[in-house]
Amino acid sequence: MNIEALKNEIYKLKREKNALIVAHNYQIDEVQEIADFVGDSFYLSKVCAERPEEVIVFCGVHFMAESAKILSPHKKVLLPEIDAGCPLADMVTAEDVENLKKKYPDYSIVCYINSPASVKAKSDVICTSSNAVKIVREFPNDKIIFLPDKNLGSFVRKQVPEKDIILWEGFCITHYKIKKEDVEKAKSLHPNALVLVHPECRPEVVELADFVGSTKQIIDFATASKEKEFIIGTEMGVLYSLKKLNPDKKFYILHPGMICPNMKKNTLQSVRDALLYERYQIEVEEEIMQGAKRALAKMLEMG
Ligand code: SF4
Repeated sequence: MNIEALKNEIYKLKREKNALIVAHNYQIDEVQEIADFVGDSFYLSKVCAERPEEVIVFCGVHFMAESAKILSPHKKVLLPEIDAGCPLADMVTAEDVENLKKKYPDYSIVCYINSPASVKAKSDVICTSSNAVKIVREFPNDKIIFLPDKNLGSFVRKQVPEKDIILWEGFCITHYKIKKEDVEKAKSLHPNALVLVHPECRPEVVELADFVGSTKQIIDFATASKEKEFIIGTEMGVLYSLKKLNPDKKFYILHPGMICPNMKKNTLQSVRDALLYERYQIEVEEEIMQGAKRALAKMLEMG
């Protein structure tokens, strides 16, 4: 089936099933194009909870669809490719968290949203890449275990030096590819460009950036800026929104390998199949659901 025919079938099925399609900023362009909403994972989960549609096709990776399910437990949440996982999220387990709690009983667990629901359920509070600094700073304990991303954790530690922060050794395999030399090379090739990077990058990369922020913060920063050229240090799917919102500006990707293979698994074909066969449904065990909901609610309460 050609692309236009596939798109038409997706729109038809979407109407018939009264479904909502949401896509993360790292999805392939075609998938972002047919989505009702594009954004980062937490924004999309909130959209799914607020919208009336009962069927959600979540074009992202597994932990994201899980978060949507936790915030909308009565809706049918579908992930088009069931093996679209996140290696960072898989670097920590609920058992690891149990062991940490035994070893460091005085510490509170701040868990990045890029984690499995079972890990969220055992944490004290969740954070996103945009609010991690605020959550750690304002959490009512000076002893914090931050997991699973050591790079985001080390960025937080720099901004909140007054707290004792233990980092878990996880990392995003895609952002980890960028090295200091890549930034230096990109800067010499594009001397007028600002360097915008995600805090999942290595600390020495973050150190050289003009701006550090979540996917949404990078898009907002570039869109509001008077500057015309930007070097982007995050997954290259973000170029779709950056170019769409800023047709007069130039964007250069910091490293040619900034592609998350898991994020690229969802295709128009798998979105169409998700709608047609109502697959793959995301389910979360009740106990895990309640625990993860509590930790997410704590984040929302902290603003
Ligand atoms: Fe996970 Fe990194 Fe891919 Fe995001 S970009 S889904 S953190 S591996």
